[in-house]
Amino acid sequence: MKFDYPENVHFKCLRCALCCGDTEKRERKIFFTKIEANHIKQRTSMQSEEFAEEIKGCEPYVYKMKKTKKGKCIFLKNNSCSIYRIRPLICRFYPFELRETKSNRHVFAYTNECPGIGEGPLLTKRFFETLFKRLIKTLNKNSHTM
Ligand code: SF4
Repeated sequence: MKFDYPENVHFKCLRCALCCGDTEKRERKIFFTKIEANHIKQRTSMQSEEFAEEIKGCEPYVYKMKKTKKGKCIFLKNNSCSIYRIRPLICRFYPFELRETKSNRHVFAYTNECPGIGEGPLLTKRFFETLFKRLIKTLNKNSHTM
């Protein structure tokens, strides 16, 4: 599959954790698949009800991450992700997302809310290819279990 991506975008994660919870302007929804939930269960020895809420109508995403009373992801500890190596695909994508146009093209978009946009190196096609391949891999794995 082919995709379009923004050129001339610089990005570096500043580890500010803004994307790990709600802000005054928006509610952060961290969706994930059944396989992603199983990985988290295995690595943390938690039951899915402890960290996930079931959702409908967003397949292949069937869970939403629970948040603290302050609106932060429950796995955010001391402002860093305690499940970083197995974090959901949605977290890996941020501040980017893949949209599908009416003509069935896939286009990477990004949000300027992330303070890391404009920082760091110029992103190349390879960066977006890696994200794209991760998405395909996650969706393929999930389709074999549904
Ligand atoms: S908001 Fe942007 S800079 Fe801050 S932690 Fe998330 S990805 Fe990194």
